[in-house]
Amino acid sequence: MRFGDLELLPLTDGTFRLDGGAMFGVVPKPLWQKRAPADDRNRIRLGLRPLVVRGERTLLIDAGIGGKMDEKSIEIYAIDRSRHLDHALADAGVRREDIDIVLASHLHFDHAGGFTTRDDRGRLVPAFPRARYVVRTAEWEDAMHPHERNRASYLAENFAPLAEAGVLDLVDGDDTIMPGVRVVRTGGHTMHHQIVMIESGGRTAVFAADLMPTAAHVDEPWIMGYDLYPMDTLSFKRGFVREAIAGHYLIFFEHDPDIAAGFIRDEGGRKRIEPLQL
Ligand SMILES: [Zn+2]
Repeated sequence: MRFGDLELLPLTDGTFRLDGGAMFGVVPKPLWQKRAPADDRNRIRLGLRPLVVRGERTLLIDAGIGGKMDEKSIEIYAIDRSRHLDHALADAGVRREDIDIVLASHLHFDHAGGFTTRDDRGRLVPAFPRARYVVRTAEWEDAMHPHERNRASYLAENFAPLAEAGVLDLVDGDDTIMPGVRVVRTGGHTMHHQIVMIESGGRTAVFAADLMPTAAHVDEPWIMGYDLYPMDTLSFKRGFVREAIAGHYLIFFEHDPDIAAGFIRDEGGRKRIEPLQL
């Protein structure tokens, strides 16, 4: 889709499932299961939706869960990549070598899994051969030194090889990554989790990553149990939702199984997502 001077290409790396209770934190199941039905293991279906922004350069935001997960994880998370990122890129007419920049919201495996791949000899290499990989410095440090609470989410095979290959660019603040694309730290989910603001022709789109992973997370207290600092998520989200309604932001939902993007509407205090017809 055209977006001012830019082109936005929503992609998919398949679907997976996570515990519904963990996805909605303190929200009781009778409420969340109306929006996200659970399977017999209490898991809900989630999307994996990286986004390409084509402008002065070709930039990919996150890269899905990737093809390196082991059998046990594929089973636990019900990973279904029968249609994965390579299919989506081909449909969009983009080759892996066309990607100039890979930008990370954060380094959890369901966002950075596709950053690296195994070559013919089984070595871990960058999956996008010409790309620079842009990661927030403090997120990189946290990922390289995980603690007991986040160790299962930070898999070094997804990002350590980038430093070894010399393709890593660490950025410190809320920088512009290319014209029309800048990052904003939200904290909350991880201390240095960031969203991506895409601005062109007077319009704003936002890659919301895990600030608002699905359209069902539009209500302010609907915050993931996975978040390390949920009160930070809440305070950022409160301001963000107001801003998004006033500014008519187009929000991209990285984990929504059905809705790639939409607008937040406020109907007499009730928030609702109006899906974008792609
Ligand atoms: Zn995620």
